[in-house]
Amino acid sequence: PAEGVLHGLPGAPGLAAGPIFRYERGQIEVHERFRGFDQERTRLYGALERAHGQLAALHAEVAVRSSASEAAIFEVHRELLSDPGLLDRVEAAIATGRSAAQAWQECTRREIGELASLSDALLAERATDLRDVADRFLRLLTGGSAALPLLPEEPVIVVAHDLTPSETATLDPALVLGFCTAVGGPNAHTAILARALGLPAVLSTGPALLAIAPGTQAILDGSAGTLIVNPSPAVVETARATQRRVRERRGEDLQAAHDPAVTIDGQRVEVAANIGGAADARQGIACGAEAVGLLRTEFLFLERTVAPSEEEQYTIYAEIATVMGGRSLVIRTLDIGGDKPLPYLSLPPEENPFLGERGIRLCLANPELLRVQLRAILRTAGTTPLRVMFPMVADIEELRAARGLLEGLRNELGAAASVEVGIMVEVPSAALMADLFAREVDFFSIGTNDLTQYTLAMDRTHPTLAAKADGLHPAVLRLIARTTDAAHAAGKWVGVCGELGADPVALPILVGLGVDEIRVNVPAIPSVKAQIRTLNLAECQELARRALVCASAREVRAAVRMSQ
Ligand code: PEP
Ligand code: MG
Repeated sequence: PAEGVLHGLPGAPGLAAGPIFRYERGQIEVHERFRGFDQERTRLYGALERAHGQLAALHAEVAVRSSASEAAIFEVHRELLSDPGLLDRVEAAIATGRSAAQAWQECTRREIGELASLSDALLAERATDLRDVADRFLRLLTGGSAALPLLPEEPVIVVAHDLTPSETATLDPALVLGFCTAVGGPNAHTAILARALGLPAVLSTGPALLAIAPGTQAILDGSAGTLIVNPSPAVVETARATQRRVRERRGEDLQAAHDPAVTIDGQRVEVAANIGGAADARQGIACGAEAVGLLRTEFLFLERTVAPSEEEQYTIYAEIATVMGGRSLVIRTLDIGGDKPLPYLSLPPEENPFLGERGIRLCLANPELLRVQLRAILRTAGTTPLRVMFPMVADIEELRAARGLLEGLRNELGAAASVEVGIMVEVPSAALMADLFAREVDFFSIGTNDLTQYTLAMDRTHPTLAAKADGLHPAVLRLIARTTDAAHAAGKWVGVCGELGADPVALPILVGLGVDEIRVNVPAIPSVKAQIRTLNLAECQELARRALVCASAREVRAAVRMSQ
């Protein structure tokens, strides 16, 4: 468009104003001749080793720049690169007289094409990951660097058909103000990375994006999901002023991040971090986290050929406990299944993995896995206040079985320290039965990501439904209200650990519904604390009451905006 607004999906919040830069991935040309089976095979495995080295370095860099959980994307890439089926096919192609590079290109292109054509959104996203890994490997094999376009020297808004996760991670934050892609969904790895890196992003604008001439001035609004093309000077000035204010506000929030979050009328709300490992815990504390509200232990189990031993797990939990220095740490037991499979468990494929053996169901079906983890957790108890939390609990029998295992191990180990036990409330049945669960747990943690997907029957990784799967839907809010009421009636406390806690429109409602602890990703902690300090509990309660009788998420959002 010559001027006007392109609408897409919000990918990562933030505002950017600058010229458009069209990012085009160079084609990698393969001209090499076959030099004999053994030689080609040696080249293949030599390049494989170097690719693993590069991915390990990228993993370490992203872990430092953002967090361990986001860095895990590159562990998934190493897994793709080690796929024995793929390597067998490449070797078979070499045996027919292809060079290693030709064989690799043919086999991966075929596989990417097949994945991309599937209607399953998750598998189609895997095609982007495989293309990313396949190109990296091909560049190593051919010695080419053609696929990495040079960025200009002036800061730009990057525009592309799609960006792979490694392209996103290697975008220089000094030169890239934000990016906009024609395709892609908010739950794909690229968007998750952009949020973790603090890079504004708009996704899925459609092909009109690629018709914009390079150098055209634009404003990217990652929160609204829009790209304003050829804005008037007045609009640019407003955007720049907003940007400056946001930057200043972020600095102020960070300065006050170590103060408690107390509402104007004196209600203290604890703000804790969701983490994937010790590096996140350190960053969390630097950003003002008062506790760790969710350690997603599944990241310790990914990208391996066997599960981590009790000793390995103990070392990691103990390191995190040391970092916490007396602050509370909630360890969630393995939440695998659904969108996070474990290759070494060799589980049968499921038609609907999100409705299959996931979380606590999977652990109870493989009790040794849970037993090893609980032993490692119990050995850590005593160093810092430690709590165990079971994911995906749908039925009280599951809680009782898991608790029974924990108690048995505690006696066996002679562990003196008692460990509080809680459950994730992320399946509607748990919220509906919260009064009964409340008698048997010490706390609840509401996982709004899953609670929303299961309440609205909308796959959380679905590219077109994701925008509609809004945790502010009154049906989800009614389940949250039921949970907090039941918990408080039994003298128990409630945290929220889904993405909803970091949504500024949702926060007043969560506080109004009586949530005691907000658990968010580390970068969101300072702003969540700052916003709580501007709230008034009595007003939040009134807002929550109104939200519960709204007819849709849209009405709830409108009600919050009207009140501000
Ligand atoms: C949730 O479901 O809201 C949650 C916090 O758990 P996860 O995102 O790890 O499934
Ligand atoms: Mg969950």
